[in-house]
Amino acid sequence: MVRRAESGQLETSHPLLDPVRELFERDTRDFLDHEGVFFEVGADSGALLTAFVHRTRRGQAAGGLRHWPYPTLEALIRDGLRLAVGMTRKNAMAGLWWGGGKGIIARRDDTDWRDRAYRDLVYAEYGRFVSSLGGCYVTAEDAGTTPPDMRAVFSGTRHTTCIPAEQGGSGNPSGPTAVGVVCAMEAALDVANQGTLAGKRIAMQGAGNVATFMMSALLERGVASIIASDINESRIAELRSRFEGAPVELRVCEPDDLTIFETPCDIFAPNALGGVLNPGTIERLQTGIVCGAANNQLLDDKRDMEALVRRGIVYVPDFVANRMGIVNCANEAYGHVPGDPAIARHLGRDWEQSVFNMTRRVLLRAQQAGTTTAEAANALADELGAELHPVWPLRGQQIIEGLVETGWASSEQR
Ligand code: NAD
Repeated sequence: MVRRAESGQLETSHPLLDPVRELFERDTRDFLDHEGVFFEVGADSGALLTAFVHRTRRGQAAGGLRHWPYPTLEALIRDGLRLAVGMTRKNAMAGLWWGGGKGIIARRDDTDWRDRAYRDLVYAEYGRFVSSLGGCYVTAEDAGTTPPDMRAVFSGTRHTTCIPAEQGGSGNPSGPTAVGVVCAMEAALDVANQGTLAGKRIAMQGAGNVATFMMSALLERGVASIIASDINESRIAELRSRFEGAPVELRVCEPDDLTIFETPCDIFAPNALGGVLNPGTIERLQTGIVCGAANNQLLDDKRDMEALVRRGIVYVPDFVANRMGIVNCANEAYGHVPGDPAIARHLGRDWEQSVFNMTRRVLLRAQQAGTTTAEAANALADELGAELHPVWPLRGQQIIEGLVETGWASSEQR
């Protein structure tokens, strides 16, 4: 365990973690006073299990679990720290009473990590690790983690979401995520005085789960055309038959093919991967607005945001647009209601914290303050992230203090 002591010094619970402390004493960029960072070596799998808790003022930390390979421990830790901050901001912006956190299992390529038996072992172990954290971190599905994996996590802890629907979980979030992004597109057009989506031309990279729901939502709103590219030929073939007769052009592409970025359009939606807005792509864009579902779209937050501003392109920060993935699952322990109003209000115009209203607020704040949209979004999210949960203020911090007092970190595994 690594945490900041009252003296301001970083403390580690195990000599193995000393290099981590030294790393963050040397280069403090990503260590934004996280409330706790937890490490365990899985007793059965030998995998490194981690949890990053950034802020718990709005509630205990909520955020997904990645099963991903990293070249170094430093790369894993920096990613976990940054992703946890991102979840504090996304959850606060979405009006959720949850703080921000992230889980990472270091994927070991010397194991058969695709094998179901291995995955069941490591994910159940991760569930027990989450249980040991007493509820300061509530996990969820994320990159590299699938619904069967979440079933295995659930066998080890109650502090998880995204469990299978037949066990009371919230099911596939892709539909709400897509509609949320479409609401953000509508807000961006509104702020730019460009009317509605009717008659607009949309280009998107990726034609996966979210993109497919997005195409249907955009067609319902009367867009003139959609152009989408994907590296998966069978996916493109399936969508060609699904959208036959509709103004949808589907292109198969190579992973490094940048043609889609050069497509003239009103809105460009990155719906495949992170890091796609970079010096190699931004100069090619033929759009006024970028708004999509992918996480961490800017390869370098500052450099690439500035490049978009120089090109006069309005960028809707990804965490403002794609909140519905976490919204769909975060409160699943409260049960569900048909046409759930707790979900639907995010996609409407009445609630002041809906996707449409918050996107407008971010874009207008940037205009008024003369900042980038990313700066405006982060500033607003940080203000909201400082608010205290109305019923359980500081519960997460109390749990972490309890873990320290009762010697959580003294086990050999940690
Ligand atoms: P998905 O895997 O179903 O779709 C991604 C698609 O991108 C795939 O069809 C893949 O073949 C394609 N792709 C990969 N590399 C490509 C390339 N170089 N060029 C073109 N296409 C490429 O994933 P998804 O669930 O639709 O999510 C899409 C993005 O949105 C991801 O970045 C995800 O992290 C993010 N996101 C998803 C949700 C959700 O609810 N599913 C929520 C928030 C954020």
